[in-house]
Amino acid sequence: MKIGIPRGMNYYNYYPFWHGFFTWLGIEPVLSAKTTKKTISDGSRIVVPETCLPVKIYMGHVLDLIDNKKIDVLYIPSHQSIAPKIYNCSKIRGLPDLVRNVVKRNFLLIEPTLDKSEKNQGLYQYLYDSVAPLGITDKKLIKKASKAGWECQNKFNAMLRSGMNLNDAIDKIIKGDFSVETQEEKKKYSVNVAVISHGYNLYDNRVSMGIFDKLEKLDAKAYAPENLSVEQMEKGYSVLDTTLYWANENEMTGAAGYYMVDNNIDGIITLTSFGCGPDSIMIERITRFARRYNKPLLNLTVDEHTGEAGFITRLEAFTDMLLRRKRETIIKSLSKQFGEQKEQKLSQNQTVS
Ligand code: SF4
Repeated sequence: MKIGIPRGMNYYNYYPFWHGFFTWLGIEPVLSAKTTKKTISDGSRIVVPETCLPVKIYMGHVLDLIDNKKIDVLYIPSHQSIAPKIYNCSKIRGLPDLVRNVVKRNFLLIEPTLDKSEKNQGLYQYLYDSVAPLGITDKKLIKKASKAGWECQNKFNAMLRSGMNLNDAIDKIIKGDFSVETQEEKKKYSVNVAVISHGYNLYDNRVSMGIFDKLEKLDAKAYAPENLSVEQMEKGYSVLDTTLYWANENEMTGAAGYYMVDNNIDGIITLTSFGCGPDSIMIERITRFARRYNKPLLNLTVDEHTGEAGFITRLEAFTDMLLRRKRETIIKSLSKQFGEQKEQKLSQNQTVS
């Protein structure tokens, strides 16, 4: 049995779990190919133009799975709420409905619902609904498979916290490999930058235009929301004085708040999709607090027409500015120290004379 999983949206958060879970049950997860220009144009063609870029891309991945991979069934879960009273964006919640209505092909769909704000829609019901259509209804077996899923997800989280890139960590999970990045492997960079966005924007190189590699070439170390622990994220919410309603805020305001007061971080870059409602509210708050904390901020918005040249120019200008700012701060503190030493020497000489 081959289950098709589109390489988009929730894939970037939960694929390690699904991989461990399905593989343990003898079901082979099949991924769509990495995003290309064709994925974007195929997906854009079947939804209304106002749809945000990640959803257009997701539709392109669905088409790739149906047209090019020999799958038996498509797996499109609906993640309504990931914790009591914390909800996902309506487009994430309605993904299966959207796919069913816009993809004009013959396909079988498994569409379990996870809704932690509802009494009977918890994780085990969700997992049961994920495999019951395939004839697996033994609850003990499903529980054991979920353990295998958590094992993969926990390893994945540990790799992310060590600073590893998310795509590298997923590759390792698929290969059954596990390793964390050690301090010795980390080199010194001219500037440190926090890049704030959702996983499906940041780690899809077509959307983020390979922002991590570009910053690396500019000698800037990039820090992402995925590198933070739950406790650090919670600290971030309090910095930005925000209460959680949208699950997406985990990735945005929590990380932005944490990095805002981290003296190791020289500046923050936010990356959002044109037409994203939740992000527009969060960016407004992040911008207000960046002014308050005097933290340089660059807001980048992308859609399917964004050109790479303009993107690079803005990154170069931003990292240049951060470097100049850093140098000025160092020079100021050195001259202050030098001035204080000089004054001390003068007063010592006067006392002697
Ligand atoms: S949070 Fe924004 S980018 Fe993500 S699915 Fe919703 S509208 Fe699209």
